[in-house]
Amino acid sequence: MTSIPLAPELEKLLNEGRNTAIISHFNPDGDAIGSTVGMLRYLRDKGQDPVPVIPSPIPSFLDFLDPEREIVRYTEDEKKAKDAIRGAELIICLDFNSLKRTEWMAELIGSSTAAKVLIDHHPNPDREKFDLIISRPDASSTCELLYLTLMSFPSIDADPSRLSHGTLTALATGIITDTNNFNNSITPDTFIIASDMLRLGVDFDTINSLVFKRYSESRMRLMGRLLTDSMAVDSRLGASTMVITLKDKEEFNFADGDSEGFVNLPLMIRDVEVSALFSETQDYIRVSLRSKGHVSVNALSSAYFNGGGHARAAGGRLYMPVSQVREYFLKSLEQFLQSNWEKPSEAAPEEK
Ligand code: 5GP
Ligand code: MN
Repeated sequence: MTSIPLAPELEKLLNEGRNTAIISHFNPDGDAIGSTVGMLRYLRDKGQDPVPVIPSPIPSFLDFLDPEREIVRYTEDEKKAKDAIRGAELIICLDFNSLKRTEWMAELIGSSTAAKVLIDHHPNPDREKFDLIISRPDASSTCELLYLTLMSFPSIDADPSRLSHGTLTALATGIITDTNNFNNSITPDTFIIASDMLRLGVDFDTINSLVFKRYSESRMRLMGRLLTDSMAVDSRLGASTMVITLKDKEEFNFADGDSEGFVNLPLMIRDVEVSALFSETQDYIRVSLRSKGHVSVNALSSAYFNGGGHARAAGGRLYMPVSQVREYFLKSLEQFLQSNWEKPSEAAPEEK
């Protein structure tokens, strides 16, 4: 298993028992919530009382990770969120590479004098903003990286039975969701970790059911509608586009998290290398991009979609009428493919 050289330094910092806030990103996914809850449980088990804060609500398919609603949602309790950040002497940031991903919390976190730690697997972390950075773009997920980090703590000494069931279950969830159930971005560590977890009684069957088998009927029908009526394949560019409009959302009683996984579906088509899903909101068009691996959608998103992410999975935003997004996307992709963008395999490796 990979060892994390900075882990002992982090453990020392955590052992100081400072007032701690745990932060993750806007529109949190399983990896964001899994790593947040994993760190929360770990510190609670040590007798500490950190406050987890996220900028926006948790999609309902992840609610089982926070049954007591211990995570402070900024949009629901702004005062509590601000107090936690203002009062923190240590801020642990998980699953994002730039404070911008915390939206309306970014300024408060940025101006805090607390020591700031980043544990994350996105490329190109904003190094200036953090005092201690554990960055591994090769890790499947932040949850995998957090597990490796905990295993490298001197007090854990690579013995996962020293972690509680709650910590392990939360970390397992983030690994499952970020790898799309062990399909993408897996590493040799991923399976060693999964094996450790299984041996220690983590219930993968139940996590799988909770994450992937609790959708609403209307969500399934929206998926059918999109595949039949909205998906457009451009074989020349190897691209697929799908659009969810506000009207679709109303018709299908759309809830947060309902479009989870849709963007992966067109990648099953032989000719599709890049899949794009556009989801209209009141304020902007949310963009989700996926690639089979030859095109870096992270670079594509940074260049044209006000976003970023990973080589194979990225997101962003567009500010234009929904009727124009497909044309904009195809033009952007064509330009991007003609430019000298760095292919993922040729990209400079991240500092380890
Ligand atoms: P999704 O398509 O699932 O919303 O996002 C895929 C990945 O893209 C996320 O894990 C995250 O790394 C990244 N991502 C999504 N939205 C944004 C965004 O607005 N800005 C940046 N920088 N990254 C994003
Ligand atoms: Mn992640």
